[in-house]
Amino acid sequence: MSEIIVQKFGGTSVGSVERIGIVANIVAEASKSKKIIVVVSAMGGETNKLVKLANHFGENPDKREFDALVSTGETVSSALLAMALHSKGIKAKSYSASQISMRTTDSFSKAKILDVDADKILKVVDDNTIPIITGFQGITEGGDITTLGRGGSDTTAVAIAAQVGAKRCDIYTDVDGIFTTDPKVVSNAKKLDSITMEEMLELAGQGAKVVQTRAVEFANKFDVPVRVLSSFNDGSGTLISLGEENMENALVSGIAFQKDQVKFTLHGVGDIPGTAFKILGPISEADIEVDVIVQNVSVDGKTDFTFTVSSDEQATVQNIIESIKKDVNFRELIIDSSIAKVSIVGAGMRSQAGVASAAFRALSENDVNIQIICTSEIKITMVIDESLVEKAVQVLHDEFNLDE
Ligand code: ASP
Ligand code: MG
Repeated sequence: MSEIIVQKFGGTSVGSVERIGIVANIVAEASKSKKIIVVVSAMGGETNKLVKLANHFGENPDKREFDALVSTGETVSSALLAMALHSKGIKAKSYSASQISMRTTDSFSKAKILDVDADKILKVVDDNTIPIITGFQGITEGGDITTLGRGGSDTTAVAIAAQVGAKRCDIYTDVDGIFTTDPKVVSNAKKLDSITMEEMLELAGQGAKVVQTRAVEFANKFDVPVRVLSSFNDGSGTLISLGEENMENALVSGIAFQKDQVKFTLHGVGDIPGTAFKILGPISEADIEVDVIVQNVSVDGKTDFTFTVSSDEQATVQNIIESIKKDVNFRELIIDSSIAKVSIVGAGMRSQAGVASAAFRALSENDVNIQIICTSEIKITMVIDESLVEKAVQVLHDEFNLDE
């Protein structure tokens, strides 16, 4: 049997019947030389409409019914794409999550995939029929419909690719691939031909929104190569490779940034065992992702403890800190919501020094003050004033010649 490729089409790619016709052409062409399994998102904007409908009878609709409703957009697009393929004389069948036993946990709206009936899908493929599977949807042990969280179709596609042993998962979207940075901010940003999985994880986590971060984590865990490409323009997109393929790693591959961040500083907190846990424990229990975490050298047994979270979580985190005030002594809580994070990512940094100092020099020459610096093996993250993000990203992009 020839190799299997999973093709995933996002909302804009299937945004109209005309677009679905174009997607059918892409699938038809690929199916001439390979076995194809397709995963689709809802037609662009449909999920948002369903979410709005769900709020009509009250702000907090029943979670089970909410998922039952918002999952239906994918049902529509999968059946329509099957029809489009039929019109070209190609055998295709739509499948919902329950039809392929896409089993998930029962946490509605953020369900996690447990397993999927790969044999069932492969039987369809063996019958020379293209399965068109609904992304985003899952089904619990008890048969309730769940959804995987916004953007979850990417994860559906990667999970299926992993389970059927596909050679690759192609994620079709409305951009040409992964760029050195957001082309809306830096006009000479360049499309990358390839990027390593770990670089992509850092970029996705740092706000490069093209592929759902969870999908990249899944691809990394199950060794599924992913390609991101456009269904609008021809081109080979960006290959997210699994490792040693490019021996010569780029020093810097991309610049990611995230606005809508808040910086919390507990000033003058006791430098004693258990403090960090007392602060961050309740925050993580509330399922809030904490990013940059810094604790400095202490003076007279007191130190400053700083971390960032997304702006959406500001109120919740503030309440949590107030509630632990009795337990964790600190002089003052300082909240700064006009900050942003800028990150330089590159697998080549691991073996070469000098990236950090070059970045700091370039930013200082352009009057960008760096409030916090935080590094990992292949990433340097800097917290700066939100109003300077565009300038900083452009300066760093130029400094590392990413347009070449
Ligand atoms: N349709 C869902 C959403 O809009 C899932 C997806 O497109 O990946 O979030
Ligand atoms: Mg998407």
